[in-house]
Amino acid sequence: LNNEITIFEKILAGEIPSTIVYENEHVVAFKDIIPKAPVHVLVIPRKKSRNLTEIAGVPETEIGHFLKGVALTATALGLDDSGYRVVINNGRDGQQSVEYLHAHILGGRPLKWPPG
Ligand code: 5GP
Repeated sequence: LNNEITIFEKILAGEIPSTIVYENEHVVAFKDIIPKAPVHVLVIPRKKSRNLTEIAGVPETEIGHFLKGVALTATALGLDDSGYRVVINNGRDGQQSVEYLHAHILGGRPLKWPPG
């Protein structure tokens, strides 16, 4: 099992700086350091899962609070009228680079589909 501390745990602990744009009891949302769109925010659950696969073992209410946290973040960012995209990269082929479950919120311009 890989219990390595990730950069997101350090952000959560306030050990490294980030620009937090929304938070509640369940989630923290902060700006991606290398934005791929005019709005690029990452939403993480306060309670760690390493990836989407792992949430098979997480209570449904916690999973619900995570997804709801994504929606509340997008609303707080003012994205509801324009729309936005939510992405969860999972594992190697999904190009997940940080082993702490996170949803990307991308917006502020029309996004292309499909992704590369
Ligand atoms: P992944 O590729 O795992 O889906 O997404 C990880 C994201 O975290 C990337 O978009 C990357 O730019 C972002 N990221 C990596 N390190 C940091 C950091 O130290 N601070 C912030 N705010 N974002 C980071």
